[in-house]
Amino acid sequence: MDHQQSLSELRAQVDDINMQILELLSQRARIVSEIGKIHTAMGNAHYDPAREAEMLTRLQQANKGPFSNQTIQALFREIFRASLEMEEQQARAKIKVQRKSADERTIIQLPNGAVIGDGGFQLVAGPCAVESDEQMEEAAAALAARGVKIIRGMAFKPRTSPYEFQGMGETGLQIARRVADKYNMAITSEIMDASQIPMMMDYVDIFWVGARNMQNSFLLKALGKIDRPVILKRGLAATLEEFLYSAEYIVASGNPNVILIERGIRTFEKWTRNTLDIGGVAVLKLESHLPIIVDISHSAGRRDIAKPLARVAKASGADGLMVEVHPNPPVAMSDAKQQLSIPEFNALMDELVELA
Ligand code: PEP
Ligand code: MN
Repeated sequence: MDHQQSLSELRAQVDDINMQILELLSQRARIVSEIGKIHTAMGNAHYDPAREAEMLTRLQQANKGPFSNQTIQALFREIFRASLEMEEQQARAKIKVQRKSADERTIIQLPNGAVIGDGGFQLVAGPCAVESDEQMEEAAAALAARGVKIIRGMAFKPRTSPYEFQGMGETGLQIARRVADKYNMAITSEIMDASQIPMMMDYVDIFWVGARNMQNSFLLKALGKIDRPVILKRGLAATLEEFLYSAEYIVASGNPNVILIERGIRTFEKWTRNTLDIGGVAVLKLESHLPIIVDISHSAGRRDIAKPLARVAKASGADGLMVEVHPNPPVAMSDAKQQLSIPEFNALMDELVELA
């Protein structure tokens, strides 16, 4: 037998073994997928490091070469990783906020006729916090003049320090409601605790869950039991998967009207307050049918890049943007550095009109 002939014969054997390995891998994947379903049903984590270590030890004990134990470990680790990824993907595919088809979308209708998620680009704007009648009146008049339909009416402020302005409370909601009604605007306002729901129902059109409360599952479940839309902000250091699971809490509890907001995440960067994850916005549009809005204020922490961020938000396929606007930003009681003045807001609107 010449070399050429034995080479082809050996290669044929390798091809055959490849097919057997493929068949075994697929068989293994099907079984792992069954295990994954049981884990999901039991509410267990898919990754079990103890089980993985046990399998690797057994493989090493059985290994007679020629591959080193290290190589066998690396090869099987790869198989374990692929299986875990598959299990997690299957679990995600089942959740309610996951997109099931390319044209699936959640459209939020507000009592004043404003719509979010219909393919248009909706604006949510207003001061960081309600500070006075005059401040809200001035802001609302300017916003209404440019067609803004959803105003921030923040009365409870989750500040870093307990010694900073904490918001006006219910009085602030009363001011916001009066002003919003005057200009036919919907109000969104941040809720801190489920106990505030009954009181806030009298004032707000969209409940707002801030970044610090994204994983307050009790609050999320409570908001799932009411029939009013909820804006959910991404946590300060939340992954996209964690973000979607938080939205899932609300939807799974019975309220399908959830709007996501990307507000920047914590990174090492200091020249912006947070790092706007615009790639994350594009991924969320692919993964979920929920509308997503880009917060160009808290992600930046500065007002001088509002225009480019708004352009980027629009180009990302987001359903709208959120921007803080104050009649006199330097004296604002919170987030003074990032709120736009009314002329700056008008310039931003000019920019958006040009884009459209
Ligand atoms: C806000 O938008 O009012 C706010 C407090 O932002 P975040 O929760 O994203 O910090
Ligand atoms: Mn703010």
